[in-house]
Amino acid sequence: MKIVDIHRYYLNLSVLFILLPAFISQSVLAQERILKDQLDSTFIWFRDNPPNSSNIQSRRDKTVLLDKLGWQVSPETWKLYNSSIQDSALTMKLESQYPILYYLRHVFKKSVSEIKICQIDKGVIVWKLYNMGYVIKTKDVCFAIDLVTPFFIELVDVIDFAVVSHAHNDHFDKNFIQALTAKGKAVYSPFYREGTVISSDTLLNFKELEVRFTMNKQGDLPVIVSEINCGPSADYYTIYDIADARILEKLQPSRHINLFILHIANGLNVFDAVKKINPDMTLYDHIMEFGHPVDRYRWSYDFTYDKTKQTDPALNHILTWGERIESGLGKKIFWNEKEVIEKN
Ligand SMILES: [Zn+2]
Repeated sequence: MKIVDIHRYYLNLSVLFILLPAFISQSVLAQERILKDQLDSTFIWFRDNPPNSSNIQSRRDKTVLLDKLGWQVSPETWKLYNSSIQDSALTMKLESQYPILYYLRHVFKKSVSEIKICQIDKGVIVWKLYNMGYVIKTKDVCFAIDLVTPFFIELVDVIDFAVVSHAHNDHFDKNFIQALTAKGKAVYSPFYREGTVISSDTLLNFKELEVRFTMNKQGDLPVIVSEINCGPSADYYTIYDIADARILEKLQPSRHINLFILHIANGLNVFDAVKKINPDMTLYDHIMEFGHPVDRYRWSYDFTYDKTKQTDPALNHILTWGERIESGLGKKIFWNEKEVIEKN
């Protein structure tokens, strides 16, 4: 090889070493953008295709991506992500590494903007957020059950009261309930002394709502079961949320249940429970909770669809984060990406 060829060879090699990392980084960014676009369109698809008797398989197919990406998030990563919210650089880094966290923030922010903006003259809207966390809004009241969120601050002003079923971290966020009580909002739980501690069956009214708590247990831990009758403006729509309660005999709603919410795999025969409650609609939940290791008590969408495959798909549903249930709304509410527009 001539001297000049050797020089050319090394020159080409050094150009390659300079350009290659930049090329790889561009390619990683492009792949990340493609995945985020796919996740954005997945959420829009779920919103456009709420569960019904004919779309169960297509909904199940769409959850494959959520299971795959969700399984990458360990309890340690979830803990770090929760603590990163004051540090946007770390939040962004984790969302790049774990795109399901990007998805969670995106659907949460969208839901929060809807919760804040929408005005309901009658009926009820139920937002399913993370794990068994729900926000429910009626004409006069907006309340939360078992809401766990790194983005809690945005909801403190709009929530009138919160229910925490039991003292497990996957069902309450200490910062959120402290922020609520600091604002004088009621927090009902079996353990949180700055709020209202529920230790026996309790009936109370909150504007139009009739709220009935009954005591149950998960092992030795007290769990409150919430029966919430949303009142006349919601045509007495009644939610029965048993969270992680396990004692079947103590599930005794006082009236017909429209929406029954329960854990998919919690030491209680879910089908016996549904048979006993006999609701209009059942939501099987506690899916993809990142605080549980993937090989222990973490339940996938696939597991949940498989377990419930013999049930009537018109009455038994699995919701993904940010999906809603609406009942008896007076005015038609149109939702879009940027705002909520209400029309007659
Ligand atoms: Zn739980």
